[in-house]
Amino acid sequence: MSEAVSRLDGGCLCGAIRYRLNGPFLFVSQCCCKDCQKATGTGHTTIIGVPGPQLQILAGTPKTYTSRGDSGGDVVRHFCAECAGRLYTSGTLPGEIVMIQAGSLDEPWQITPESVIYVKDALPWDKFDPALPRFEALPDRN
Ligand SMILES: [Zn+2]
Ligand SMILES: [Zn+2]
Repeated sequence: MSEAVSRLDGGCLCGAIRYRLNGPFLFVSQCCCKDCQKATGTGHTTIIGVPGPQLQILAGTPKTYTSRGDSGGDVVRHFCAECAGRLYTSGTLPGEIVMIQAGSLDEPWQITPESVIYVKDALPWDKFDPALPRFEALPDRN
């Protein structure tokens, strides 16, 4: 997948919060879940999964909002209190994974989505690359 990219920087719209993401990345997915739709105001969000320690906050402190995920655990969304720019999601996810909002990267074209997840919630007008594997919810973990 994105092994070629070993480090990516990003931040919010106003620039108050800056972060650095160190590879390798676990997955890059289009997430169509209803929570992502509500949190972003769009049809889906593009997320990059990495182990938590691979995300460094360089400047600023994100505000958080915690909701309950469909597996019953906490889902914590991190965003800028000033410009409302979405940055990443953490919580009681398997293996202490954080999921970065790909659009907050300085160079978002560097990553390539490799799957579509939570297709069960996808909206009819939200279209995806037909070559990507699709999962009703999360991919099976092995
Ligand atoms: Zn901001
Ligand atoms: Zn989602």
